[in-house]
Amino acid sequence: MSVKKGVISPTNINFTQRNKTTNSLSADKLFLEIRAGNRSALGRAITLIESTQSKHTEDANRLIEKCLPYSGKSFRLGITGVPGVGKSTFIEQLGLLLLQQNHKVAVLAIDPSSTRNKGSILGDKTRMEQLSAEKNAFIRPSPSAGSLGGVARKTRETIIICEAAGYDYILIETVGVGQSETVVRSMVDFFLLLMLAGAGDELQGIKRGIIEMADLIAINKADGENIPMAKLARQEYQNALHLFPLKDSGWQPPVLTCSAVTGKGIDDIFQQMEKYKTQTFASGFFKKNRKQQAKYWLDETIWDSLKKDFLSSEKIRTEFKKLEQAVINETLSPFAAAQQLLDLYKTGKS
Ligand code: GDP
Repeated sequence: MSVKKGVISPTNINFTQRNKTTNSLSADKLFLEIRAGNRSALGRAITLIESTQSKHTEDANRLIEKCLPYSGKSFRLGITGVPGVGKSTFIEQLGLLLLQQNHKVAVLAIDPSSTRNKGSILGDKTRMEQLSAEKNAFIRPSPSAGSLGGVARKTRETIIICEAAGYDYILIETVGVGQSETVVRSMVDFFLLLMLAGAGDELQGIKRGIIEMADLIAINKADGENIPMAKLARQEYQNALHLFPLKDSGWQPPVLTCSAVTGKGIDDIFQQMEKYKTQTFASGFFKKNRKQQAKYWLDETIWDSLKKDFLSSEKIRTEFKKLEQAVINETLSPFAAAQQLLDLYKTGKS
């Protein structure tokens, strides 16, 4: 992964070293630095949140608590699309436009393919060079390890930190090929799907469910010879979207064309997002959606940690495998197996 100005790589930070030499990682100090607009402190804070070491959990939680009263005021935008559709190029263009409008832009990513050893679809290429050189932009590569649920939770916490740092547009990028877009949908206000003309949905690996989730579909690469095809695709998707039931938000998702390379059409997309904001603020949906999302994340965090705790016992894991096999072989009912495992868990707790 190339590291440029404004891009803080999680791998660059060595906690052990820092802890030994200074106490600069204390949550209170980090908080003050973040509030003062220090981007490198923001990078360190996110690394602290992403840390899987239990000794960092307390500091991370304290930092989030401190940031919470200053969070929530951004527009959270999810962007998805298959690899190669132009997400990075698009985010760079949109990000630069947002900066011109005096916004502060943070770009985060959720990339399910990403692990420390495997490399990632989103993180390991040269990306958003222009945007990352801007002082009001902050670009964070996707967290490099963990389950989708874990990574998602940390991204949600990262949003809070970025908002406390004054970023009022949070762009969350994900690859439209798996479960991650559902997770991203549950943490953003607006969900944008980038597509290509001339390639069917299946070819693009886009599932119907993702199209239904979108608040706006943009047919990218509408430039040069591609323009007529892009216009046709726009019409087709627009017709298809009309068949879906009206969303809870009351918003009818538009289909637009754009070119992330020439910048044409990006401003129209921005205008639509502004319109959405105005409309959903007025209807009360914006707030209602945020509240539902907060409730969802409360539930998710509890279930996630219970599951982790449940499976942390070697004894349970071994028994789980054994009983699972018995259930598959139909020698034990799933309910009886679950009861036995839960009893074992409870005994271990008492
Ligand atoms: P990502 O994998 O979705 O992030 O896609 P990238 O932003 O890396 O873009 C993939 C390729 O498509 C790059 O070579 C871009 O230069 C090119 N590209 C992106 N947007 C456009 C566009 O609007 N028009 C054209 N012609 N090419 C584009």
